Amino acid sequence: MARLIFLGPPGAGKGTQADTLAHLCNIPHISTGDILRGAVAQKTDLGMKAQSYMDQGELVPDQLILDLVRDRLDQPEVETGWILDGFPRNVNQAIFLDHLLQEIEQTCDRVVNLEVPDEVLVARLLSRGRRDDNEEVIRNRLQVYREQTAPLIDFYRDRQKLVSVNGNRSIEQVNAELQQITRGIKH
Ligand code: AMP
Repeated sequence: MARLIFLGPPGAGKGTQADTLAHLCNIPHISTGDILRGAVAQKTDLGMKAQSYMDQGELVPDQLILDLVRDRLDQPEVETGWILDGFPRNVNQAIFLDHLLQEIEQTCDRVVNLEVPDEVLVARLLSRGRRDDNEEVIRNRLQVYREQTAPLIDFYRDRQKLVSVNGNRSIEQVNAELQQITRGIKH
């Protein structure tokens, strides 16, 4: 059982690491980015509304995200744990999550902050080749991260939830440390 939030800039490896760890722990990996990309591909109402923000590297408005997260965390299969990847992305979302978790009587165990230097992030993102991975959009996403998401590092440090992990290592090394952190969680 683990309830984890993966924090960190775009390109830090949150998605890859969350995927592996979620499989190992047999808990759902909830990526708001993946959910939004799915909605864009299927041209749903949500997808149509979200697409232009995503293409520019801006955050999608909170009102589009919050109900979606509430729905996911309200389902029976997440009672054994979860990994949130890409949410919360700003202080407003983090406060919403605090309230939501209280309401459903859950607590987050750890917030994993994956640290990777900027120049490594840009190189990784450029090699990934996703639709929102061109240089101009990458620069904007990093700026949005610094302005809106990075304040969550202090937010969760103040709440004694933060664990920083050096993400500038091999996938296997990072994964081994994350497994160790997960094993250390006591309920
Ligand atoms: P990601 O896959 O997490 O890098 O997300 C890709 C894009 O989806 C971001 O650049 C945002 O436009 C949007 N997005 C994902 N998660 C959120 C969120 N929690 N709040 C707002 N926008 C989000």
